[in-house]
Amino acid sequence: MRILIISDIHANLGALDKVLIDAGTFDKVWCLGDVVGYGPQPNITIERLRSLDALCIAGNHDWAVLDRLDLDEFNPEARKAVLWTRQQLDLINLEWLKQLPERVPTQAEKFSLIHGSPRYPIWEYILTPPIARANFEYFDTPFCFFGHTHVPIIYQFSEKEGRAIAHELPEILSVPLGPEKMLVNPGSVGQPRDGDTRAAYAILNLDSMTLTHHRVRYDIKSTQVKMQQAGLPSRLIQRLGQGW
Ligand SMILES: [Zn+2]
Repeated sequence: MRILIISDIHANLGALDKVLIDAGTFDKVWCLGDVVGYGPQPNITIERLRSLDALCIAGNHDWAVLDRLDLDEFNPEARKAVLWTRQQLDLINLEWLKQLPERVPTQAEKFSLIHGSPRYPIWEYILTPPIARANFEYFDTPFCFFGHTHVPIIYQFSEKEGRAIAHELPEILSVPLGPEKMLVNPGSVGQPRDGDTRAAYAILNLDSMTLTHHRVRYDIKSTQVKMQQAGLPSRLIQRLGQGW
């Protein structure tokens, strides 16, 4: 069974559709939150995930759009995008956002899915091995997928050393999962922040228990034009072309 794992789409439909084509066949989609915010096509992006029957959890931008988070916590551009998204969303898509859980254990309790961190699912950024180390205490499954930082990475828990070890996620190469606990970030579909502008995703093969990380080019210009037309902040438009 092949599972497509995506995160931080941020209403960038052009990037999402390219990922869906590039991924080939898959049996399920797991989505790690921040479906909307920043990008220009929130309704169709949600509709795409609904049509795929994706197993999806909530991110901080999704919650902000639902008025569940204090907008003062967001920078001015992100706040502007949240307010714009709020005005755009159809009722049915808002309802879909509302029912997204904060975390799920899934697939025979082998995997946890969260947006930020197991400790604080909506807000905490796992940016360093010590933060990852602290978070290994907060999930019971062998593996946990997370997003939020928009940077692909694997943190492996070394029992012998009592610390988390960071590994870059190599492109295309199959990475075996286990035997130790792991925290895995597939990167961002709609706003990569690791200096690589291509959309990021991962394929989990449950038969071989391996993970492959993929990057795919999409029409950045077309997304940027749509953002311009929507009147979204220029800083958000620029960053897509630079990968930060
Ligand atoms: Zn995000």
